[in-house]
Amino acid sequence: MDLGVKDFCITNKPEKFENPRYFQRSLRRLKIRQRRLNRKAKDSHNRKKARVKVAKIYEKVANQRLDYQHKISLKLTNENQVISCEYLNIKGMVKKPPAEELRYRKLAQQISDVARGQFLTLLEYKGDIYGCEIKRVDRFFPSSKRCSNCGYLKEDLRLKDREWTCPGCHVDHDRDINACQNLLQFYDLKIGWEASKSTPKETITP
Ligand SMILES: [Zn+2]
Repeated sequence: MDLGVKDFCITNKPEKFENPRYFQRSLRRLKIRQRRLNRKAKDSHNRKKARVKVAKIYEKVANQRLDYQHKISLKLTNENQVISCEYLNIKGMVKKPPAEELRYRKLAQQISDVARGQFLTLLEYKGDIYGCEIKRVDRFFPSSKRCSNCGYLKEDLRLKDREWTCPGCHVDHDRDINACQNLLQFYDLKIGWEASKSTPKETITP
């Protein structure tokens, strides 16, 4: 499983779960309420009421997101024995936003970071209940840049490259699905690595 931006998460099946963008959908109302709040006199009763209205929008968005995450994590942990996913690789995922939108974009980004962490927590919690093991893959594993077919590392792969062809084996990749395949392979390789490590090695010295 890979956590995306356009899609909330993608699996190697492949299966894509859309990103419902609850925050963006409430953004217009939030901006209006926030502006009203800013106009209220300091320490006034009306300011207090306006602040509650702003807080309620955030609360609604958080509840919608949590509800959605409960549904996906339930489905995934019910249908699988093992889920291998990226630890959290958020850095460099979002392009530099324009100045006037900066504040809200930053806020949206922070919220989505928290949401991802929350989703993984839910996944682990439900995994315990339904007998699905959650394997977190090292964040430095190049899951997007690696060709899941031949292992070629495409160092110049950009974030906007949604589809690419491997120069090594000429296989066409969907960026996210390829990343999922790699995460699954990383898990398999890790098992092999752990198994080989636990085998006692006898060294015979003459
Ligand atoms: Zn390849």
